[in-house]
Amino acid sequence: MIGNDSQKKPSLEQIRLKRRQRERHHRILNRLFFSMGAAVFLMIPILIFSSINQSVYAERVSAVNGQLEESLNSYPPQPSVSPLRETLALLQAKRESLEAENALNQEELTSMDDQICNLQAQLATKPVPTEPAPTEPTPTEPAPTEPAPTEPAPTEPTPTEPPSPDTPQGKTTVYLTFDDGPSYLTGQVLDILDRYGIKATFFVTYTDKPELTPFYQQIVSRGHSIGIHTASHDYDYIYGSFEQFKADFIKIYSHVGDLTGVYSSLYRFPGGSSNLYGRASFMADQIRGFLSEMGCVYMDWNVTNGDGAWVSADTAYQTVINEIQGRKTPVILMHDGEKKESTVESLPRIIETLLSQGYAFDRLTPSSPLVQQGISWDP
Ligand SMILES: [Zn+2]
Repeated sequence: MIGNDSQKKPSLEQIRLKRRQRERHHRILNRLFFSMGAAVFLMIPILIFSSINQSVYAERVSAVNGQLEESLNSYPPQPSVSPLRETLALLQAKRESLEAENALNQEELTSMDDQICNLQAQLATKPVPTEPAPTEPTPTEPAPTEPAPTEPAPTEPTPTEPPSPDTPQGKTTVYLTFDDGPSYLTGQVLDILDRYGIKATFFVTYTDKPELTPFYQQIVSRGHSIGIHTASHDYDYIYGSFEQFKADFIKIYSHVGDLTGVYSSLYRFPGGSSNLYGRASFMADQIRGFLSEMGCVYMDWNVTNGDGAWVSADTAYQTVINEIQGRKTPVILMHDGEKKESTVESLPRIIETLLSQGYAFDRLTPSSPLVQQGISWDP
């Protein structure tokens, strides 16, 4: 019985042991919970701190961004590139159109200047005032009965023609002169002159076109005289100042010298020396000194074919034949520049007629008889 009871009922020791075990479990659990609680408790401030920290950081970043924005805005606004390009393109286009317009005006001015010069030359070189007026070279030209107001009319100087220009054979010598070349017509003029075995004089302008530059040398090698005319043929530029006059002269003078080896002693004023009276008399002395320094003699003309403006071949021919009558030293102005086809066309007829009338032909040299309008030189 006692044995059975002792078996069924747990002993006090066993109860205590169980109790202690339970208490230990409780402690372990408590510690575990406590640790977790503590961990959670500790995490909260960390999370709070980090969130505060994060917001502070964000604030600082936005403050710095704000400062950067502000300092960027404080710079002056930079225009974008495309409006600048547009303005540039506009200006360039405008400049081009002005340039084209200017070229047209220049062409017209040059043509008018040539006409004026021709008229002045005709007036200045009329042999006898009582002579009836010859037929007009061009119908479009105003009647040159009155001298231009700028001319020293009462004392028109007569060209300084020598008294005895006759050749040993008693023939009068004609000097054909061609201005404003070389051009695409120069080759034809040279061929015509060769055909008649005639020498002439070319007062040249500047070109560096490869198809035209050989003509400078051809003029020389085919036995003609090469004279200096102008590089630009821009009257406003040439007669604008003495420095410009010199620059224009030197440009063509050295160009011809480089290409032919001939540093010419012959010069023809663009528009003739009488041109200076209206445009550049203020520097006449300087120019006179300069030309003499360069060893150059200037040559004008006393006969034209009227091709300063457009003329037909018939008119060109007739004008020469009319104007040459009575001249002791005829120096004929013609042009072998662009668009002077009628000059080329009329040339053989002119030569043939003058040959048949007993004239001889020669080229100008510095020692040739001087034909100078001289109006501006001795006003
Ligand atoms: Zn000219």
